[in-house]
Amino acid sequence: MKVTILGTANAWGPNPFLPSGLHWPMTGSLSNGQQVQFRQFRTSLLVETADEKRILVDCGPDFSHQLRQFKVPPVDAIVLTHSHTDHIGGIDELNLYRPTGRFPIPAYATSACWNTIKNVRGLGYLIDNPASPTRGPMTEMTLLVAGQNPTFSVGSVKVTPFQVQHSQFSPGAVGFVFEETQKGQERSILYTGDLWAVSNPANPMFRTQFDVAIIECDRATGVAGPAAGGGHLSLDEIVRILTNGFLSNPRPSRVTLVHFGDNGPTPASTYADWRNAATTALAGIVPALGTSVQAADALIGYEGLVL
Ligand SMILES: [Zn+2]
Ligand SMILES: [Zn+2]
Repeated sequence: MKVTILGTANAWGPNPFLPSGLHWPMTGSLSNGQQVQFRQFRTSLLVETADEKRILVDCGPDFSHQLRQFKVPPVDAIVLTHSHTDHIGGIDELNLYRPTGRFPIPAYATSACWNTIKNVRGLGYLIDNPASPTRGPMTEMTLLVAGQNPTFSVGSVKVTPFQVQHSQFSPGAVGFVFEETQKGQERSILYTGDLWAVSNPANPMFRTQFDVAIIECDRATGVAGPAAGGGHLSLDEIVRILTNGFLSNPRPSRVTLVHFGDNGPTPASTYADWRNAATTALAGIVPALGTSVQAADALIGYEGLVL
């Protein structure tokens, strides 16, 4: 199983109208000097299985650009974390796959997420309807997540959603765990999606030793929650979650942060500012950061990062 990070920006991407100024393009340097770009595209992932199936995880408004830049071949499944536009705004562009014949694509979301996509966002026409002269690009597959882990498989990868708390305007939000066993070796990768908390921190699935946890890191500080109408994780909250929250026992071997917003660790945060802040905050919490160049280079997600 291979995961490629297709985008690392939050809802709107970097804002040129902030008093701190425009940081565009957002670039940075890895340990070997290689230049990388982050916050260019809204957060999305591509999971590729050992038996060559592909899963697109979220499909934001930059999808057509991501598809062209990363030459994303036709996908075998789409999984959607929630119905905010930065995660579903590109689903019309799935029509780019129409000439491939690999169409429609099974698309997995919760019933509440589908309801919002169809009836609030007005995108129901994108769901395949045999009675329609223009068939939609997606087949609706509904996840049932209340109190259970409804696992499904795409090729050799097992996919399990878990409920998260995020926003009243985007009900039915989930994160996903991807698991694959190959030649006796198991690999488990968790992606949180957007959240301020998981719904059931006691879920035994969180006792898995994840090889990588891909965690949203929308801002540097602060605690979101119902009083704020929902919200996102901050770097501070990620430290807490890895110290005594749902990802603390055991802690994931490696961590990659995505979904970066403008409220970074400095007034005009660059890739290096984010990297320095996250490395300092997570030193000793994610031990691999101190011993593995790869783990340190993968801490701040960037476009094209392969995990
Ligand atoms: Zn988002
Ligand atoms: Zn969201």
